[in-house]
Amino acid sequence: MPITRLLIANRGEIALRIHRAAHEMGIETVAVHSTADTDAMHVRLADHAICIGPPPASESYLNIAAIISAAEISGADAIHPGYGFLSENAKFAEIVEAHDIAWIGPKPEHIRTMGDKVEAKRTARDLGLPLVPGSDGALQSIEEAKEVAARIGYPVLVKAASGGGGRGMKVIPSEEDLETLVSQARSEAKAAFGDDTVYIEKYLGNPRHIEFQVFGDGNGNAIHLGERDCSLQRRHQKVLEEAPSPVISPEERERMGTIVSNAMAQMGYRGAGTIEFLWENGEFYFIEMNTRLQVEHPVTEAITGLDLVREQIRIAEGKPLSVQQEELRFTGHAIECRINAEDPWSFAPSPGQVTSYHAAGGMHVRVDSGLYSGYRIPPYYDSMIAKLIVYGRTREGCIMRLKRALGEMVVEGVKTSIPMHEALLEEPDFLNGDYTIKWLEEWLAKRQG
Ligand code: ADP
Repeated sequence: MPITRLLIANRGEIALRIHRAAHEMGIETVAVHSTADTDAMHVRLADHAICIGPPPASESYLNIAAIISAAEISGADAIHPGYGFLSENAKFAEIVEAHDIAWIGPKPEHIRTMGDKVEAKRTARDLGLPLVPGSDGALQSIEEAKEVAARIGYPVLVKAASGGGGRGMKVIPSEEDLETLVSQARSEAKAAFGDDTVYIEKYLGNPRHIEFQVFGDGNGNAIHLGERDCSLQRRHQKVLEEAPSPVISPEERERMGTIVSNAMAQMGYRGAGTIEFLWENGEFYFIEMNTRLQVEHPVTEAITGLDLVREQIRIAEGKPLSVQQEELRFTGHAIECRINAEDPWSFAPSPGQVTSYHAAGGMHVRVDSGLYSGYRIPPYYDSMIAKLIVYGRTREGCIMRLKRALGEMVVEGVKTSIPMHEALLEEPDFLNGDYTIKWLEEWLAKRQG
C-alpha cells in the first residue's frame, strides 16, 4: 500500500531527516510535538503539526494514546518512530498496526525478542551469530554463576536482561566478589527495569565496537550494508562513528556480512536493523541487535549511496529491497561527529538560546540538525543538536575535510562539543585508527588530570 501521509513520532534532527526523505518521495508529513518544541524546525517544515503534550517526554513523545489520536485526527496512514522514544516499543508497534496504520519498523515480535537480552542472545545463537561466551540464558543460582565464571575465566560481566544504554552491568573481577555483585546487579535491575533477570558473560578487556547495518523485506530476503566502527564512546554513548572500520578487511566484511544477512533472511526480518558486535583479536562477539534506525546511519548512506529512510518507507509499503547485495558497492570513507550542547570537557549540559548559527558546507559535507539562529534548545531532551557527516575517497581525505568543516561550524550562545572533536582529530591514535572502546575515556581522563 502506498503511503501518502506520514506521522513522525520524534523530534530534533531525526524528525527532520525523516521529513526530508518523505518529501522527496512525495509523501506529506505530520509533526507531533510537545509544548517545548512549538518553534522547532521539524514542526515548522512539516505539512501538519499537532501538539501532543507538555515538555516531559513521558507526557508527549512517549504518550502512546496522544500519538495514536494525532494519527487518527490528521489522517496519517503511516508512523515512523525514529530512534529512541517509542522506536523499540513492541506494544506501540502492535497498537499502530491494530489501527491499520503502517508501522515503519520491524515486525513487533522481532522488536520484542531483540529487546530482551537473554532472548536476543538465544536467537542470535540459533541464527549462527558468534556470541560472547557466557551463561546459557538467565542465571538460575549463585552456584551456576560460579560454575560459568570458572569455565569462561575472570573477569566476567553480569548484565540485566532488560538493561539498556549501558545500564545494569557490573564487572566481577574474581570469585570472591561474585555473590555480592550478582545480588547487587539483581536488585539494581529490579529497581531500574522492574525485572531482576541477569546473565553472565566473559568480560572482554579491550574490544572495538563494530556493528553491521542490515535490511530485510520481511519475506526472507535480506542484505547487509557493511559495518560501522563506533568504538569512540563515553559512558557507553557513541561520540564519533566511521564507516568502514579501519580494522576490517574487505574479505572480513564479506564473511561477516554474509553471516548477518543470512541470519536476517532466516528470521524473516523486516526493515532496518543493526547487529552490534564487540571485536577483539580478529573475532566478533554479538552483544545486541537494535531494531530501528541508528543515529549514525548517515555514514553508511555516504559509503553506499543508499537513502536508508527511503528504503524503510519502501519496505513498509510492501515493496522489495531496492538493491541486491551484488549491486552494492562500498566506496570511500565517512565519519560522523555528534555535536552536543554541552561543555566540551566536563560534559555538563548547556541548553539555552543559540544566538548565532552557521552550518558547514561544501563538497561531501552533510549537517543534520534542527538548529537556526535564535532557536532555544530546551533542557528536557537529549543534548545532541547536530550531526556533522563528512565523506572522502580515503580516510585521510575524509579527516582533512572533517577538520575543515568543523572549523566552519558556528554555534554561539551555548557550549558545544565541537572543540572536543577538533582536539580528537589531532590525536595520532585516532589518525592511525588505533583505538578501542576504552580509548576515549582514557584520553579524556588524561586531559583532565
Ligand atoms: P546496552 O543495551 O545497555 O547498551 P550492550 O550489551 O549493548 O548494552 O553493551 C553496551 C556497552 O557495554 C558495549 O558497547 C561495550 O562498551 C560494553 N560491553 C558490553 N558487553 C561487554 C563484554 N562482554 N565485555 C566488555 N565490554 C562489554
